[in-house]
Amino acid sequence: MSYTLEGSSGSWEVVIGLEVHAQVISQSKLFSGAATAFGAEPNTQVSFVDAAFPGMLPVINEACVAQAVRTGLGLEAHINLVSRFDRKNYFYADLPSGYQISQYEHPIVGAGTIEIELSNGATKKIGVTRLHLEQDAGKSLHDQNATKSYIDLNRAGVALMEIVSEPDLRSPEEAGAYLRKLRTVLRYLGTCDGNMEEGSMRADVNVSVRKHGEPFRTRCEVKNVNSIRFVQQAVEAEAKRQIALYEDGGTVLQETRLYDPSRGETRSMRSKEDAHDYRYFPDPDLLPLVLDEDWVESLRAELPELPDAKRARLSRDYGIPFYDAGVLVAEQVIADFYEAVAKGRDGKLAANWMIGDFFAGLNRTGHGIEDSPVSAAALGKLLDLMADSTINGKIAKEVLEVMMDTGEDPAAIIDARGLRQVTDTGAIDAAVDTVLAANPDKLAEYRGGKEKLFGFFVGQVMKVMAGKGNPALVNEAVRKKL
Ligand code: ADP
Ligand code: MG
Repeated sequence: MSYTLEGSSGSWEVVIGLEVHAQVISQSKLFSGAATAFGAEPNTQVSFVDAAFPGMLPVINEACVAQAVRTGLGLEAHINLVSRFDRKNYFYADLPSGYQISQYEHPIVGAGTIEIELSNGATKKIGVTRLHLEQDAGKSLHDQNATKSYIDLNRAGVALMEIVSEPDLRSPEEAGAYLRKLRTVLRYLGTCDGNMEEGSMRADVNVSVRKHGEPFRTRCEVKNVNSIRFVQQAVEAEAKRQIALYEDGGTVLQETRLYDPSRGETRSMRSKEDAHDYRYFPDPDLLPLVLDEDWVESLRAELPELPDAKRARLSRDYGIPFYDAGVLVAEQVIADFYEAVAKGRDGKLAANWMIGDFFAGLNRTGHGIEDSPVSAAALGKLLDLMADSTINGKIAKEVLEVMMDTGEDPAAIIDARGLRQVTDTGAIDAAVDTVLAANPDKLAEYRGGKEKLFGFFVGQVMKVMAGKGNPALVNEAVRKKL
């Protein structure tokens, strides 16, 4: 099912390419030793290099280079052993040097791919054009004073990876799936925290529309969108705007636009500067970046297991559906938690309990998995208590709720509340007798052929036993007495 938008002249296809700025996880900046911690007092993490004092020279941070290479490897991309830093010249108050050091013609990482999955289960490979390293700019603060703007240079010089996709995306859903998958991969790699609220991942969204089979038309770039939901909304709003223009006999001008979530529309920011406006040239303060192939290979050897591989392995080793495995690998902490629960136990049961009652419990109590009141060991113990028939599944749900609320041990909860499963056939038979005696009319109906009532009797017996009867034994006893 392809995504199209209808206009008066028929249906339109939407074409999207994303440029993602991902802040590199590193102790210090790309070309200086200043710290990168988020939320520090303004202008407390600024070196002379970041403030562009005369005569200060940039020195490349090897840790940031390693992060970019790791990311490239994680995207199955080509690593360019020789790359170069260029100056991108523009004038803005938050850019003290008057240029950003970036990589233009020779990025550190070339073509790669990201595989996305759509809600109908289909997968699609999206091309990554390139990844380059560049510095972030400072931040203008316009809301501190009625007549002045302030500048905070803490962010100036922080390393960013710009990850550019091919124009392979065809719907808001695909754009969202791409960003989620990219974020997951970056988090697994530990190269970017993917936190869009804090601005450590932001997307420029390029959108054009066309009739099916046509070459690409002119695109507009919606700048700096800071949530996946807004990216999806921006795609739709911008595509509709362009369609309306074409349907009116107009043309789309290439320009940079902004998305306004409160109005659900994009508006023009500036007409697109051509690249030569930036007067790119190689930064004379920096040598070309030459990587040693053995070093790249050593980084490759140390890569963690990435989501696609982990998903395949979990599905295979624990016998769980591919879909469930996808849910469990969305975050590494979830996958680790799952494996701790599933190891040596019934993997399917572990997955069902995690994806079902455990996630619901986290939601209900407002916890993330990192601060879950129920540890993997405790959840595992609960499964063991079901497996050895200490409790049945229904009681286990109750116990898990208490565990979520109190953090108590499951065995302690079961003992304190007398929830142990009843396997004593004498007690079960007695409960069945009570139920049959209390429902003579239903009993007559059943014996007259209304076999559906079997479930009713089982339910009543369980009720009499406060839910603690062993389900198999209760079924057997009811069948016998009926
Ligand atoms: P620039 O440097 O001007 O931003 P790029 O060639 O780097 O231009 O492309 C930027 C982004 O625009 C890429 O993600 C690319 O996939 C996307 N893009 C290119 N052409 C189109 C198009 N016709 N429609 C939508 N996106 C496009
Ligand atoms: Mg661009």
